[in-house]
Amino acid sequence: MRRQLPLAVFIALLAAGPLLLPEFSITLLNYIGLYAIVAVGLVLLTGVGGLTSFGQAAFVGIGAYTTAWMTTAHGVSPWLTLSIGLVVTAAVALFLGFITLRMGGHYLPLGTIAWGISLYFLFGNVEFLGGHTGITGIPPVSLFGWEMKSGRDFYYLIWLVVLLAILALRNLLDSREGRAIRALKGGAVMAEAMGINTPRAKIVIFLIAALLASISGWLYAHLQRFVNPTPFSLTQGIEYLFMAVVGGIGHVWGAVLGAGLITVLKQWLQDWLPQILGQSGNFEIIVFGVAVVLILQKARDGLWPVILRLLPAPSRQRAVPQAPALDRRPAPPAGTLLLEANGVTKRFGGLVANNNMSLTVRAGEVMALIGPNGAGKSTMFNCISAVDPASEGKIAFLGASTASLAARDIASRGMSRTFQHVRLLGQMSVLENVAIGAHLRGSRGALAAALRLDRAEEQRLLAEAARQIERVGLAEHMFDAAGSLALGQQRIVEIARALCSDPCLLLLDEPAAGLRYREKQALAELLRRLRGEGMGILLVEHDMDFVMGLADRVVVMEFGEKIAEGAPEAVQRDPKVLEAYLGGVE
Ligand code: ADP
Ligand code: MG
Repeated sequence: MRRQLPLAVFIALLAAGPLLLPEFSITLLNYIGLYAIVAVGLVLLTGVGGLTSFGQAAFVGIGAYTTAWMTTAHGVSPWLTLSIGLVVTAAVALFLGFITLRMGGHYLPLGTIAWGISLYFLFGNVEFLGGHTGITGIPPVSLFGWEMKSGRDFYYLIWLVVLLAILALRNLLDSREGRAIRALKGGAVMAEAMGINTPRAKIVIFLIAALLASISGWLYAHLQRFVNPTPFSLTQGIEYLFMAVVGGIGHVWGAVLGAGLITVLKQWLQDWLPQILGQSGNFEIIVFGVAVVLILQKARDGLWPVILRLLPAPSRQRAVPQAPALDRRPAPPAGTLLLEANGVTKRFGGLVANNNMSLTVRAGEVMALIGPNGAGKSTMFNCISAVDPASEGKIAFLGASTASLAARDIASRGMSRTFQHVRLLGQMSVLENVAIGAHLRGSRGALAAALRLDRAEEQRLLAEAARQIERVGLAEHMFDAAGSLALGQQRIVEIARALCSDPCLLLLDEPAAGLRYREKQALAELLRRLRGEGMGILLVEHDMDFVMGLADRVVVMEFGEKIAEGAPEAVQRDPKVLEAYLGGVE
């Protein structure tokens, strides 16, 4: 409740605005609202999803020009042109998204600059859009016979859209699809291994950000009643990004703060600088640039976190989610051949990390893959799970070749894994991290999440995650940030996440590293129980006591090749194995 108070005050102030403020302030607030709608989209796209776009102004332009042209030239109702604008924006965004989102690193922002400029020149050079003069005489929007002619009329509509956009985005981020989106930045490999279609998630956020920009454009056109290309240029696109970054690119409310600050600052500088310098010109741009750099120096995450510290702390959720269990896939009977790798070779340039490797795993057995550091064990895991597919060789999972499958397809068939170098989203709670593992056991998408129609399913996914966390013995850390746990415990979180996908084959890469003796015993106990339930487990581990006490069969690797295979006792006596470990195996 205390948490809601600042929000209630903010909304009350917003509502009272038109009654108290002069025309000039209302105009300023209207523009802040319009910018904030675009910046909210950028928080999702860039702040959360890690995809930087300089081209959002072009989508604003599409929304604005669609309604400007259709209402003036064809007399179409503004409410209809809003939907048409959204459809046009979606089509353009899908097209641009499919081309640009494949590009990694700096190529993506460069791509957005390219189409940002292209669309801007398109607006300015198409004759029926009025060229550089633009389109005038755009009709006002009317609602139940009330014509919104003045800025004061429009104010409530704009800020209603801002608040709804923020609400929808917050709902989205707190959902199955939201976790997939939050995994994009820094967790894409893990996400794919958990069955998340990351290219699709990128398209989804690209589309949402474009649609928000388009709505802002529609509002702009009907507020201003005329459009020309200038506000949809690359410069404005950069300014939108500034707003999101200065406000706090990882926080939805940062978008409003950033839009407010930049707009007011710019206005103020435009008024005062020419007076101070005794000369007119766009000096504000310079001051503005310096100010942005300074803010980023002092507050990397933008200014919203600074404000957040002044607000009452959120009451952390502590109730363990409860819901009926999710459906489980039929488990293959014990002894079924789950995995068969034959002649797997993996090259990194000239380095042969895996050479002609073969192994099998059956349901209800623990197969250990051991060997000195650098032998190629993790590489083999990546080949099997298609995180980094093999150069040559055959891998079959449940009797079917996985050659043409992506990691997420293999995950959907019942293989799950952990990573030697832990891949958790450190800021997210243990519960949310583990719930990522259950991604494929739900189906509700972004729209359902934004409208909160996904709650029943979400509760079941979270309850499943909670059960797996309890199962691995980390119940007391369920609501802690995953990054705050000891490294050994983080590995256990990864096991819970893998179990959450209801796998029949589990690949564990050094799960016991960093665990204390008792924790290792508990882990061994858990793995025995899983084996007893018919799960196949492929285990990489350096602790020989742990391996030999648990494994049914062992494969030993050295320099990418298999040097021994068999029962633990036999392997331990193998001269080649003793040699490889320099007498290290007792
Ligand atoms: P292990 O898990 O048995 O310790 P790895 O599979 O991690 O060994 O590594 C096997 C060999 O492959 C090492 O020499 C390692 O440096 C190399 N290697 C692993 N991944 C890559 C990569 N992505 N690019 C180049 N070389 C790699
Ligand atoms: Mg390794």
